[in-house]
Amino acid sequence: VLPLSELDPDVAAAVAAELHRQQSTLEMIASENFAPAAVMEAQGSVLTNKYAEGYPGRRYYGGCEHVDVVEQLAIARVKKLFGAEAANVQPHSGAQANAAAMFALLKPGDTILGLDLAHGGHLTHGMRINYSGKLYNVVPYHVRESDLRVDMDEVEQLALTHRPKMIVAGWSAYPRRLDFAAFRRIADAVGAYLMVDMAHFAGLVAAGLHPNPVPYADVVTTTTHKTLGGPRGGVILSRADLAKKINSAVFPGQQGGPLEHVIAAKAVAFKVAAGEEFRERQQRTLDGARILAGRLLADDVAEAGITVLTGGTEVHLVLVDLRDSALDGQQAEDLLHRIGITVNRNAVPFDPRPPMVSSGLRIGTPALATRGFGEAGFREVADIIAEALKGERPDDELRGRVEKLASAFPLYPHLSPLNGD
Ligand code: PLP
Repeated sequence: VLPLSELDPDVAAAVAAELHRQQSTLEMIASENFAPAAVMEAQGSVLTNKYAEGYPGRRYYGGCEHVDVVEQLAIARVKKLFGAEAANVQPHSGAQANAAAMFALLKPGDTILGLDLAHGGHLTHGMRINYSGKLYNVVPYHVRESDLRVDMDEVEQLALTHRPKMIVAGWSAYPRRLDFAAFRRIADAVGAYLMVDMAHFAGLVAAGLHPNPVPYADVVTTTTHKTLGGPRGGVILSRADLAKKINSAVFPGQQGGPLEHVIAAKAVAFKVAAGEEFRERQQRTLDGARILAGRLLADDVAEAGITVLTGGTEVHLVLVDLRDSALDGQQAEDLLHRIGITVNRNAVPFDPRPPMVSSGLRIGTPALATRGFGEAGFREVADIIAEALKGERPDDELRGRVEKLASAFPLYPHLSPLNGD
């Protein structure tokens, strides 16, 4: 019954320091968010103690009557949220959701098409040393050099030439919407499955602010912790006729016991995502990204050789193009970190710099929107970033502006008095 601070002061101190970091800096990593307190309460519950191999009503362990309720709630809510026929809420992460979906529908050696990692795809879409690149014959597709949009002509050409068993549509760093209908048409032309990985934009879809891939795809995977704002985890949505294959690919194919405490937290997050407050938050997320892109496209920023890939954004992130800037991705990431803004550097397509340095920054707005940022807050943070990248203002002045914003939008005030009470 000892509290963490007494049982393990070392871990407690690191957790407290992380809380302070989250409260006092501005989190703009596009794949991050802040889970509501109720989500963390469910995740930190006694459900962590329960083994429940199998599925609701068909478990390999006794005593599953309550976790069955939780898992059924999660399944019903996520199906309704996205209009899906079937859902598996057990994948421990987005990567495991993708591995299981591929395991269900493919055999080792089958050909898949996926967006090249260097052009915004994810590791699990066919990167050479990821399971996907090792198990499957990967044919990458790309964005066009002229406008940096996914080249659907190339996708079609590659599909006709290589006859893939699966086409993967989805991204980790791409600021535009994909054409799901075009992907479906190409998949149908060659008899391929279409898998959409909506990990990044699932929250926007749930809010009705981004096209829903579910009607077009055979299988849709997602994480639950990015724009969706829930606990870290994965989900697989599918057509009803694929559900059996997918369920058996998750368990026993890929995983053992499900994390029922995380599934409970997913259920809570899906309830939140169905509400009006969530829709309004996703709208602020999109508005914030547009405000940021607009500021970084202004003349004073362009003079420093900095611009925005594709000339704007339709989603929750902006990709900053530093190819013509003296600043590389690593330097820009470090510079923003020094003033209290957390982002990640990112290779841009056709990047002349090596991947560890890179010529891009990926900046996202979901976490700040969750904190309550609206137009004025996003204008201020966009201006701070522009000034920082131009390099004309002293760090401590910019750091002061960041601190002022952080305290104007308190985060988890109930967890510690740090940001007011
Ligand atoms: N799919 C996409 C498109 C992603 O961007 C990510 C994570 O960044 C994942 C899958 C993997 O999710 P996880 O980190 O939960 O394994």
